[in-house]
Amino acid sequence: MRIPADHYLLRKYIKDFGLRSQLFDFEMENKFIYLSGYDGAKTLTYTEFNQLLTGRDTKLLALFPNLREEEKGKTCDELFTEAVQVVVNEFWTAYDSLVGADESEKIKFAYQTITNSYDKYSLRSFFMEVANWSLDAINLYDLGNAHVVFENGFIESWKDAFLSSNSAGSKAGLQQLQKGMDQVPLAFIDPNRGKDSLIDNITFGARVKDIGFDEKLGFGQLPIRVGYDSPSGETLYVDSDYLILAIPYTAQRAITKSKAFAPKQEMAIRDVRYVEVTRVLLQYKSRWWEEVFTAHKQGLDGGVVCDLPIRYTMFPKTEGNSQFDNSKRGVVMAAYTFEQDATILGALSVRHRTRLAAENIDRIFPEAKSLDLVEQSASQVFPADELAGGSAFCYFGPCQKSEYLETMCETDWEDRVFFAGEQASFTHGWIQGALEAGLRCVQQVYAAATNTVA
Ligand SMILES: Cc1cc2nc3c(=O)[nH]c(=O)nc-3n(C[C@H](O)[C@H](O)[C@H](O)COP(=O)(O)OP(=O)(O)OC[C@H]3O[C@@H](n4cnc5c(N)ncnc54)[C@H](O)[C@@H]3O)c2cc1C
Repeated sequence: MRIPADHYLLRKYIKDFGLRSQLFDFEMENKFIYLSGYDGAKTLTYTEFNQLLTGRDTKLLALFPNLREEEKGKTCDELFTEAVQVVVNEFWTAYDSLVGADESEKIKFAYQTITNSYDKYSLRSFFMEVANWSLDAINLYDLGNAHVVFENGFIESWKDAFLSSNSAGSKAGLQQLQKGMDQVPLAFIDPNRGKDSLIDNITFGARVKDIGFDEKLGFGQLPIRVGYDSPSGETLYVDSDYLILAIPYTAQRAITKSKAFAPKQEMAIRDVRYVEVTRVLLQYKSRWWEEVFTAHKQGLDGGVVCDLPIRYTMFPKTEGNSQFDNSKRGVVMAAYTFEQDATILGALSVRHRTRLAAENIDRIFPEAKSLDLVEQSASQVFPADELAGGSAFCYFGPCQKSEYLETMCETDWEDRVFFAGEQASFTHGWIQGALEAGLRCVQQVYAAATNTVA
């Protein structure tokens, strides 16, 4: 969906593939909020919402009756900034303490320091036990944002906190590709890249079901054998010196192995936390929202958060979007839901899911009469996606970064098996993480093949 400014690996590939001219801005800012209990379910601009919070509006605060006195009069961003100040201070103290070290050493040390202190917390337990938030403050932060997953580890959440902040989100420099993010993987196989194209190195439609070797002969003697189902229903095999597993752990669990990996690697594969996501897209015959946003002086696009099952809607950027050049149509990400909301939406039939999403949006903007303009829908239900192992992306739970990440990046089967996939990286939930892990594997395979240390 979006690429932060500092995702240098992905941006390097975008540059090298000649895709830079396709980049245009992604609108991160939330423009509206809908809380069904507020003043007869009145839709507010996000600015109004913040003003009502800082002005201690009694109707709004009635939704959060047990906010503590010190929690009142603050926006969600302000509450969060205050809550994490202790972590920020510890980070910079550690950073400054490495006098004379280079920038990357300082950052590593500072991250390690706060990981040691706070990795034991989930986002929820951090708010409750460290920041001492009331349950209503937690509720306000959840409803006021769209990307909050309380059971994620705190350290992971802190890294991506800009996603749940109206001010930090805008500063993250997020961009997207005109023709869709699949332009990046497609560029790897573009036949026009000549000998650099991977088009003939890939076996499409091959679903791996088992991996192994002949134990009697030992690792050094035989190649690793990978068995896969072909689309024609046959089981085929490929032998190789090395194997890189670049699939989510949740999908890896379904692959049979002739020998277990190291105990901690096995434990990580079983235990590491993944997040559920369901997304619903709606195509409208015209971009009715541009009029609604303009009428409220909110530009033409942006995010809408709500307490309805769709939780978050993204009205796509108009400015610089070549898809809108010659048509009045538009596709909206009507619902972006996590965890329980994702399984709830995912469990609905396509018809009911589409209807629910369209009706939720109609409830938020009744004046637009948008129901008549819906043409098509599409959903991605990760909990029902076999090849994703029923999950969207890895996001460590409490203690998992400290306990597992190092092991997850190690080789196994005596330097014959390597682990890529975004889970084995520092940047979970982002393409950058998949590239990070892939490039690390390249170094490890090279080291194993040349008998040098990676
Ligand atoms: C909802 C959502 C939103 C996201 N938003 C963003 C974003 O805005 N920006 C961003 O940078 N990143 C985003 N990401 C993250 C990004 O998409 C992932 O981090 C990245 O795709 C992970 O790459 P990967 O190669 O590790 O795994 P995947 O992309 O999951 O690739 C694994 C591949 O393995 C295949 N596979 C599975 N099992 C088998 C098998 N048995 N045999 C053969 N093949 C198999 C799968 O079909 C799949 O093609 C998002 C992810 C999700 C789910």
